[in-house]
Amino acid sequence: MMKIDILTLFPEMFKGPFDVSIIKRAREKGLLDISVTNIRDFAHDKHRIVDDYPFGGGAGMVMKPEPVFAAVEFVRSRSGQESAKVVLLCPQGRVFNQEMAKDLSKEPHLILICGHYEGIDERVREKLIDEEISIGDFVLTGGELPAMVIVDAVARLIPGVLGEEESYANDSFYEGLLEYPQYTRPREFAGMKVPDILLSGDHEKIRQWRRKMSLQRTLERRPDLLKIDDLSEEDRKLLETD
Ligand code: SAM
Repeated sequence: MMKIDILTLFPEMFKGPFDVSIIKRAREKGLLDISVTNIRDFAHDKHRIVDDYPFGGGAGMVMKPEPVFAAVEFVRSRSGQESAKVVLLCPQGRVFNQEMAKDLSKEPHLILICGHYEGIDERVREKLIDEEISIGDFVLTGGELPAMVIVDAVARLIPGVLGEEESYANDSFYEGLLEYPQYTRPREFAGMKVPDILLSGDHEKIRQWRRKMSLQRTLERRPDLLKIDDLSEEDRKLLETD
């Protein structure tokens, strides 16, 4: 079972996303254990203060280090796991991708720290953090939505979470390619027909068509993903045929 601890000042934001569909089922099956912990519970002064003005002046508030250190200490010792990977959600971190989701899905215990306001005191970064992850080159008000994104992407890669019929092996990015177009019933909708080949029942032809579509789409939309030199002879032929 994979354990994910989320540390946040706004635990109420997490009501909902983990209580539906595939993530809910993964939790019920005992494949994934998600806990949300309020960092404010670890602020031990009278007013339970979690943020303060930045030294040196400037706008906004900075999250204080002590409650974050205490919260990490608490969830580490509670888990009983020997090692935990501590991740800070941060626009300055490495930009999240499927490869990173795959790596994280192999960790027994993840601790995700959500910043808010102007961010977190630098000493948290220096001492506690194994990896800083960004979900893209834009700035959000807090790390809560990025934490949800990461949990969702990671959870579906944990063995047993997706059923056979939902397998991720053909997903975009899984093999470095975008996925081929998908169709379902009806065969004809608003004058648009499903490609004949998908109705042919010829599995080998369907496989080739899908591979070709994947390659074409990746070339058109995300040429940065396609390593032409690594393509097999079959892939090259598929790309050349009409
Ligand atoms: N002052 C910080 C900076 O310029 O790097 C930005 C702070 S941001 C307003 C507040 C918090 O939101 C951050 O500490 C981080 O946890 C989260 N956050 C914002 N954008 C993010 C992104 N693209 N990826 C991951 N976390 C993000």
